[in-house]
Amino acid sequence: MGEAKQNVLLGLTLQELTEVGEEAGQPSYRGRQLFEALYSQRVEDAEQISTLPQSFRLSLAQKGFSVGLPKIERKFLSNDGTVRYLIAFADGDSVETVWMPEGDDGEAGDGSEAGNEVERAAGRTWNRATICVSSQVGCAVDCQFCLTALLGVKRNLTAGEIVGQVCTVLNDQGVSPPQDRVNIVFMGMGEPFLNYENFMKAVCLLVEGVGIPESRITVSTAGIVPRIYDLGAEPVRPKLAISLNASNDELRSRLMPINRKWNLEKLVAAARDFPLRNREKLTFEYVLLDGVNDSAESARELGELIRGVRAKVNLIAFNPGPGIAFQTPAQDRVTQFQKILIAAGVPAFIRRPRGRDIYAACGQLKRTVELAVC
Ligand code: SF4
Repeated sequence: MGEAKQNVLLGLTLQELTEVGEEAGQPSYRGRQLFEALYSQRVEDAEQISTLPQSFRLSLAQKGFSVGLPKIERKFLSNDGTVRYLIAFADGDSVETVWMPEGDDGEAGDGSEAGNEVERAAGRTWNRATICVSSQVGCAVDCQFCLTALLGVKRNLTAGEIVGQVCTVLNDQGVSPPQDRVNIVFMGMGEPFLNYENFMKAVCLLVEGVGIPESRITVSTAGIVPRIYDLGAEPVRPKLAISLNASNDELRSRLMPINRKWNLEKLVAAARDFPLRNREKLTFEYVLLDGVNDSAESARELGELIRGVRAKVNLIAFNPGPGIAFQTPAQDRVTQFQKILIAAGVPAFIRRPRGRDIYAACGQLKRTVELAVC
């Protein structure tokens, strides 16, 4: 699977930018100036970096360097404040990135639960916001309840394309971390752990450059077990969410074929071994599909399966979409499922679906142009 090859600055580390400067005969501190302009000020054009001498800006242009910020191709506003962006890269490929003011009533991204914040920034209607980013164009994992899976996978995103989604959305929303509280979730299109190096490079740039703390970044995996161990060993690492969706192997293999490669025993073992920080919890995501995985028996089995893991469960009532056969369960089934988990000692939260009307909710992301619903 190929990656877009462009002579772009976005995605380069401080070290790499310092080398770009030195190769142009510039002092090493030019690297820091470039780094801050790209990730903290989020300039769109190297010409805008007024801290750089004109001669260096000219030499960057002559060498064919561009910032490489992706473009907003289309933008859809939900009546709940969610914005779904179709973001296009230089080669014409595009992904979806979702802006969710006030998150989704699940975790706040820093280990606290949402909904208890009373202070509001002046003139603003949200306390915190979450950006859901994509890591690949399409996805190869083939979860049966996911619209993105219908696309297959086209290519990995570069680190610059991943960070670029965040920078483009922040610029469009006029928001600047760390002053503004922004969470990042890797829950858009793609399986981040199948693009591990670019994903991790992007995380480091988000933390060190854009100013979003690692504790406010969450990565969700369908269960690529070896990469869960790799993530646990990273010096800078986001929080981990595992998309579980079934309480036994027979059902999980049917819903998520990746389970045939790494079954629940291996997956839950990796979850148990994952080194958590103080007060940190792992998240299990569980999409409730009517009559498939939402029975009282499934809830009890799930409680047994993850007993003793320092984790919480986020329950997501399935968001329907064209071409997917599953149905949304009734609210009382969702509530019953939650109650059984809580009674078994497992913290469980019901996530409010965001942007259902614009197909921005969980598992609904797909190339907007192909959906033709808006
Ligand atoms: S749910 Fe996630 S991992 Fe599964 S097919 Fe969809 S995008 Fe890929």
